[in-house]
Amino acid sequence: MNENQNNNDKQQKGLSDDEIKMLRSGLTGSSGAGHYDNSPKAVAIRYIKKNKLFSASVAIAAILLVVVLVFVTVYFIGKISDRPNTSDYTVYLGNEHYTVKYKEAVKDGVVLIDMRRVAEFSSLSVGGSDTNVKFSVSNSHYLKFTNDSEIALINGKAVAMERKAEVDAEKCMIPLNFLINAIEEGLLIKHDTENNVIKIGRRVYKDKNGDLVPTDMLFSVSKFAVLDDKGNLADGHEYKYTTDVSKYLDSIKTEYLNLVNKSNPIGEDYEPDDLVLLDECRTPPGRTMYLRKDAANALYAMLAEMESEAPDAFEELFVTSAYRSYEYQITNHEKNIQYYINKGMSREEAEAAAAMVSALPGQSEHQSGLCIDFMTDGMSDLDESFEEYGAFDWLSKNAYKFGFILRYPEDKVNTTKYSYEPWHYRFVGREAATEIYLSGLCLEEYLENR
Ligand SMILES: [Zn+2]
Repeated sequence: MNENQNNNDKQQKGLSDDEIKMLRSGLTGSSGAGHYDNSPKAVAIRYIKKNKLFSASVAIAAILLVVVLVFVTVYFIGKISDRPNTSDYTVYLGNEHYTVKYKEAVKDGVVLIDMRRVAEFSSLSVGGSDTNVKFSVSNSHYLKFTNDSEIALINGKAVAMERKAEVDAEKCMIPLNFLINAIEEGLLIKHDTENNVIKIGRRVYKDKNGDLVPTDMLFSVSKFAVLDDKGNLADGHEYKYTTDVSKYLDSIKTEYLNLVNKSNPIGEDYEPDDLVLLDECRTPPGRTMYLRKDAANALYAMLAEMESEAPDAFEELFVTSAYRSYEYQITNHEKNIQYYINKGMSREEAEAAAAMVSALPGQSEHQSGLCIDFMTDGMSDLDESFEEYGAFDWLSKNAYKFGFILRYPEDKVNTTKYSYEPWHYRFVGREAATEIYLSGLCLEEYLENR
């Protein structure tokens, strides 16, 4: 397939996420501009007609002021929405609540919770020493934390947390996500990341007298990789497949850990030398797509497994974007810039606007040839509605077995610097994907902790 033809196809029929984002933001942008350009003017004209003493120049000045205010407001809203909410955290334990300063609640980008307070609320017994503390339900169900250590014990098994615990006589600050994953029964934990609210409640059941009784607390190691004495994975992870993956296994196990993001551009010269045509999976008619060979093999194995385990989900799924060349990104990005210029912006303004809706050439992970965007037949746009489909559900639980990770998780926006993208999967190889999946880290954090 010739490259120009391929690019033309992409440009004419293309449904890449960048283009769709551009189109969508373009739609809301234009209706907003129409409203602000016209109605203040109309209001001013009406005013002049009513009051002849009011000079036209004052009206024009008022219009200009409104336009400037609108631009300034839009600019600042854009700035603010880029930043995390750094207001204090409110933590509810049942009906009681307390507040924590943001810089105490979030450290190294990890949201922390005071386990001593949670233990008191949920009637756990507290043992050990001030800096090496054990919270127990029974002899076999407990959590143990050591000051300054990332290793926690769940029911006697060692697992790694996203961040070290800070333990003294007053507090035991541990990552909230760790607690969420370690609790199997007894507590309900909700984390509102937008408003910095954590709500923790006891799960209850009705006893034979109809009274609500809290359920017993239970901890489980099932969502973690168990470590040995040296902090390594204890016995590896057991992978179970329903289909025969043997012919793809070498590819699935090959490691690809290069980081491509806004701070680590891939470079304009980069083009993988092992791209293969995606011809064993569904892609939109008339479009050709490529991936690196191992990523393509792993994708085929993953889709065969999905077809076997979740046929309905598989039926409606297709790949909507894979490898994108640097040249394609330049063309695509220039199209976005022209779009804004046509709307009346200067070149400089248009470049800034385009940077908000699509990755700059050289910064897109798609140039690595290691990632894919999925869509389903039911979707009209590449958006978060992908979450509602069976395919997402299946991928969330199984993609790691084939070396793929959800690259831009909802709770890692501050680290990845990308919005939540349930449709974007990155190939890293099976072992790394498993560790990332089990630890709840994103790729940036995983590479930093290695
Ligand atoms: Zn993508």
